[in-house]
Amino acid sequence: MFRKAFPIVRSVKVARNCSGRHASTTASTTTVQPRICIVGAGPAGFYTAQYILKHLDNSSIDIVEKLPVPFGLVRFGVAPDHPEVKNVINTFTKTAENPRVRFLGNLSLGKDFTLEELRQRYHAVLLTYGAEQDNTLNIPNETLKNVLSAREFVAWYNGLPGYENLNPDLSGKSLTLLGQGNVAVDVARIVLSSVDELKKTDITEYALEALSRSQIETVHLVGRRGPLQAAFTIKELREMLKLSTCATEWRGDDFDHVEESIPNLPRPRKRITELMLKSLSEQQQGQNKPTGSRRFQPVFFRSPINIIGHEKVEAVEYVVNRLVDGRAIPTEQRETIATDLVCRSIGYRAISMDKHINFDERKGCVNNAGGRVLKRTLTGSDQTIDDIEDKHETGLYASGWLATGPTGVILTTMNNSFAVADAVCRDFTNNVIRVNGSRPGLDLSGKQYVSWNGWKAIDAEEVRLGAAKGKPREKLICVKTMLQIASNASN
Ligand SMILES: Cc1cc2nc3c(=O)[nH]c(=O)nc-3n(C[C@H](O)[C@H](O)[C@H](O)COP(=O)(O)OP(=O)(O)OC[C@H]3O[C@@H](n4cnc5c(N)ncnc54)[C@H](O)[C@@H]3O)c2cc1C
Repeated sequence: MFRKAFPIVRSVKVARNCSGRHASTTASTTTVQPRICIVGAGPAGFYTAQYILKHLDNSSIDIVEKLPVPFGLVRFGVAPDHPEVKNVINTFTKTAENPRVRFLGNLSLGKDFTLEELRQRYHAVLLTYGAEQDNTLNIPNETLKNVLSAREFVAWYNGLPGYENLNPDLSGKSLTLLGQGNVAVDVARIVLSSVDELKKTDITEYALEALSRSQIETVHLVGRRGPLQAAFTIKELREMLKLSTCATEWRGDDFDHVEESIPNLPRPRKRITELMLKSLSEQQQGQNKPTGSRRFQPVFFRSPINIIGHEKVEAVEYVVNRLVDGRAIPTEQRETIATDLVCRSIGYRAISMDKHINFDERKGCVNNAGGRVLKRTLTGSDQTIDDIEDKHETGLYASGWLATGPTGVILTTMNNSFAVADAVCRDFTNNVIRVNGSRPGLDLSGKQYVSWNGWKAIDAEEVRLGAAKGKPREKLICVKTMLQIASNASN
């Protein structure tokens, strides 16, 4: 296993501020390395590490990850037919291969160690463990058979360990996605795409096999507001419209008065609205006939109020909404749409992994101000925190979806993480965090962890398995197998 010693550097310590300029010059005989632990090897973890490496001289970083493999939602969330999005992995790999960084996979906060242990063993701890649960609708029959979350469905086709036996029932004719964000559109596209296209991607073999037997012909994408508030973005919509195997069918009534709003819309909203109207017009002129029987049907102004079914879902009952100042207001009207499978896609949420984390259960994120975790008596919404001295937990930070809530794309996570990392660097250079003694790092004795070389061995095996099938990789799903492959790798 990986053993990398971080020697105490005997030198003159030259501290730099975060813009790279020298902040102070301290003569000392022994300079202790700032030792930092990052919990979670997703984009937030790697981007904070990247920034700290560049801006905090001599710092050493351990990135501790629950799974044997790195990259978080880049591996287990991003759709398999979006390989270009996964190119960020190259940057993350450079960070991980910096000699001042150790990747420690297969170790979990809350199971293998506590927050207190980490805070004793490092000068600073960054929590970047993401948002891994999903929101529920809290309507009747949500636990009925064939009602899933998009999170589970995505985890299934992307090979997140523990979801390989989800076996979504694709034997019915229709799938309803409750929610209109890009995650819901990803699921729609994967279900409606031709298997011939998908088999060139890194989608798991079992998902490909199940999708090749899928009987689903119609996917409803249901949102509570109108086309002018649609949550999906233009790239995702374009991809749907381009699917050769599937026709997009809008409901004409949903677009009443939409055209006249166009001149007043901000540019991105204007472009996507124009695209929807163009597609609607093509549909009305009969120009959207697909080669197959598949249909993508966006439905606006509907909120689910009841899932109907006995043994399994048969239909969803909706209340019809009208818009008042951009908000969905329920009317007396109801509509029931038959369906065979439901995926709710109404957002992810983080959970607290340790009782010492100041966590906002309602919002599902760590209470923090600019990434600095607030003391346990304070919340992120306290209006007065700026007046309180000593309001942060010294040396404890959060970034990414755990800190901001599960919104935004990788770029948003990068910007947030760089800003939080900048706060970390400033706290070191301004002596808010005192580096007055070395810290031992995580006690790894008796722990089966995966080093970066271990991950590289897993990666090589996945690429080898994929090459045999004409895929970029075939993801390993079995944690035991991953650990075995990793343990044979040299460190
Ligand atoms: C389905 C889906 C598709 C997406 N597609 C795109 C896209 O195409 N383009 C785009 O730009 N953005 C996309 N995003 C958004 C993007 O994935 C997020 O912005 C980003 O992953 C958030 O990064 P993060 O590091 O905060 O969280 P995560 O990526 O979730 O990383 C958190 C990491 O922490 C680890 N962890 C969890 N618990 C523990 C623990 N107790 N101890 C140690 N480690 C732990 C997890 O295993 C994970 O590796 C998508 C998101 C989803 C959900």
